[in-house]
Amino acid sequence: MATNEAMKPVNLVIFGRQGSGKGTQCAMITTELGSIHISTGDMLRAAVEQGTEFGLQAKAIMDRGELVSDEVISGIVAERLAQSDVTQNGFLLDGYPRTLTQAESFVGILNDLGLTLDLALNLDVPIDEVTTRMLSRGRADDTEEAIARRLDLYEKETAPLFEFFLDQGVFEVIDGLGSESEVFDRLNTVISAVISGKSQ
Ligand code: AMP
Repeated sequence: MATNEAMKPVNLVIFGRQGSGKGTQCAMITTELGSIHISTGDMLRAAVEQGTEFGLQAKAIMDRGELVSDEVISGIVAERLAQSDVTQNGFLLDGYPRTLTQAESFVGILNDLGLTLDLALNLDVPIDEVTTRMLSRGRADDTEEAIARRLDLYEKETAPLFEFFLDQGVFEVIDGLGSESEVFDRLNTVISAVISGKSQ
């Protein structure tokens, strides 16, 4: 991916079931682009670590595999996107939006900040494969029940957003099966096409 000082910031959203390898790919993409990885899951886990009252409430919700309220999460994202490191370097938003209400708020947030979304990527890994991966990684919130609930919520609440971004002409599906570098190459190809389109 050709990056240079003059390059305009690239603003991306990435979708993918839990266990799709999204976190790893996000790190690789933001290293390449010099953009900011914003993971709402990581932000919530940081709040849990800090032991604030909000953190405690979020922990209970996350442990059950449910979703934090749309209003709260959109507020957190709006605050983060407004910061200058993000407006200057671009963002890769991971874990948000997750519901149609959030997607609508997201459009409003971008408008308010004068930002444009370049691409929404869907890192596609089948349900069977992500379930096997999650059960083997042994994270505390990865009980079989919570995994099933999260995957179910993803199909019901988040997958319908693909249509939303498709309608905006900024949606691409990437096959998430294969080695880390194979998957990265696929993502890189699609993102590079968008970058070359922007610089014309
Ligand atoms: P993640 O690491 O993205 O899978 O997020 C972990 C957990 O944080 C999720 O299972 C939700 O409980 C919560 N969470 C993260 N992002 C959001 C969001 N956009 N809306 C609601 N809840 C969220």
